[in-house]
Amino acid sequence: MSILPRRFERIKNVLGCRMKNLTVLVEDVNKPHNLSAILRTCDAAGVFEANFISKMNAVKTFNSTAQGSQKWVKLNNHESTIKAISDLKNKGFKLYGTSLNSKSVDYRNFDYSRNTCFVLGAEKWGLSNELMSMVDQSIFIPMRGMVQSLNVSVASSILLFEAIRQRENKGILPSNGEGLNIDEYQKTLFEWCYPELAEIYKKSAKEYPKLNDQGEF
Ligand code: SAM
Repeated sequence: MSILPRRFERIKNVLGCRMKNLTVLVEDVNKPHNLSAILRTCDAAGVFEANFISKMNAVKTFNSTAQGSQKWVKLNNHESTIKAISDLKNKGFKLYGTSLNSKSVDYRNFDYSRNTCFVLGAEKWGLSNELMSMVDQSIFIPMRGMVQSLNVSVASSILLFEAIRQRENKGILPSNGEGLNIDEYQKTLFEWCYPELAEIYKKSAKEYPKLNDQGEF
């Protein structure tokens, strides 16, 4: 099997910039255009996987705003807040809850160059009290307008790109696969190059073949 050389190069370049140690946890954001915009931002920032809490176990729906980014960012659907938090904490993430409450601190005061998860809340109500009580730090983005809050996807963009800016300044932004472990990199490379075949391999519980330098096998 083969892939067009230009396509293979593009996939390698994008995957080489992906990071496992930067993510979002999105609680009960249900409007497809907001979910889509958050995911598109994750793709643009180089986030490898995004986390969602969907208590009804509802399948997330994305629309044209996503521009297909749901194919390139792994989605972790957590069925409860507790499970989401324990999973992320076990992976060593520091959780930054976004809230406009009086305990929140200006987001520019923190270092996001290590395992960072931004926790974002629902369009109308913001983050639940349950989730707010479990985050490590509550942060807000200062505003100067009449409207009380930003759109959730806009907030996600500001925070993720602040993390990117800090990592770039420290010279630790991955560009050649350093943001993933080698098995994850190889597995994802196959899935991005040959998505339909990857499904067939998964169903038959077979290991993916190894790709050569031209992306062939
Ligand atoms: N009434 C809600 C509240 O008080 O939180 C507003 C929710 S806002 C429309 C939706 C989400 O966007 C928030 O839960 C938060 O994740 C994010 N957000 C909006 N404005 C923000 C800001 N200035 N700083 C940090 N996060 C913000």
